[in-house]
Amino acid sequence: MSNVIIIGSGPAGISAALYTTRAGIDTIVIGKDYGALQKASEIENYYGFPNPISGKQLIEGGMEQAKRLGAKILSDEVVGLSYDEKLLVLTKDGEYSGDSVVIATGTSRSTPRIKGLKEYEGHGVSYCAVCDAFFYRGKDVAVLGNGEYALHEALELLSTSSSVTILTNGKELTTNVPSNINVNTDVIEAFSGSEILKKVIFQNGNSMNISGLFVAVGVAGSTDLAKKIGASTENNRILVDSNMATNIPGLYAAGDCTGGLLQISKAVYEGAKAGSEIVKYIRSINKKSA
Ligand SMILES: Cc1cc2nc3c(=O)[nH]c(=O)nc-3n(C[C@H](O)[C@H](O)[C@H](O)COP(=O)(O)OP(=O)(O)OC[C@H]3O[C@@H](n4cnc5c(N)ncnc54)[C@H](O)[C@@H]3O)c2cc1C
Repeated sequence: MSNVIIIGSGPAGISAALYTTRAGIDTIVIGKDYGALQKASEIENYYGFPNPISGKQLIEGGMEQAKRLGAKILSDEVVGLSYDEKLLVLTKDGEYSGDSVVIATGTSRSTPRIKGLKEYEGHGVSYCAVCDAFFYRGKDVAVLGNGEYALHEALELLSTSSSVTILTNGKELTTNVPSNINVNTDVIEAFSGSEILKKVIFQNGNSMNISGLFVAVGVAGSTDLAKKIGASTENNRILVDSNMATNIPGLYAAGDCTGGLLQISKAVYEGAKAGSEIVKYIRSINKKSA
């Protein structure tokens, strides 16, 4: 049976699911929490509620609605996106393949402000281990982060790099790291080099030589996921056409992650548009293969 995987259970992801499930497409929605709305105590500018409603109420209502229509909603964190005959979504706890995928993960977290990080993007600083590990074969590399996402990137690098160190930048590790991956918890002062990145300098005066740094702070943000599969991004947003389609066949994006008006109404519209376009897309691939 044709299927869609929706990453994000906020207004955009759930709206997409309402359209795909009602069209009979097997739909899995994966979300790690309540997204931006978990902090919204009173919403009074969204259609249909005479009195303010909390973000939590709105999200829970949307999830119930999607479940009633047949969507499967999973609580998990997505750490990777790739392609293997079908689109492949990797999570902390498993992997799911889909004919189509929607990225509806809200706004990307900001990159930490550390001297040198921005300057060395593309010159030693990468946001995707699976894309760029190849360039650092036999070299010493580091991953910036302290959770599951950082561990996933470090494991990806282990087989090709000479050594892998997770740099937590003063934060506590929130996951168990195997002994073949080094961990450094010192606070970082700067990344330095010449044309390309060469070392990380810590606030305590120590330094460490590295050839590559992979940024994996917090959870995989929208543009991190998009970049992993080669979808076009600009600054912190995923580029889509008027059908919410990215440049990768079958991959759509909706909601805050596409930029513009960061509001529920826009996320709901884009989710609905992505969902209805996916229905057409899946019908067209099924027709071709019949
Ligand atoms: C405090 C606050 C108050 C707001 N008040 C209003 C308001 O009054 N009116 C209004 O219109 N808008 C308001 N907004 C904006 C509104 O919340 C957003 O525009 C809207 O939630 C965007 O929906 P979304 O589905 O694109 O993203 P989100 O609602 O952020 O949902 C993102 C989803 O993606 C999931 N996710 C992210 N990364 C991963 C990952 N790696 N793996 C798995 N899941 C992942 C999250 O768990 C979540 O389910 C407010 C925002 C904030 C922060």
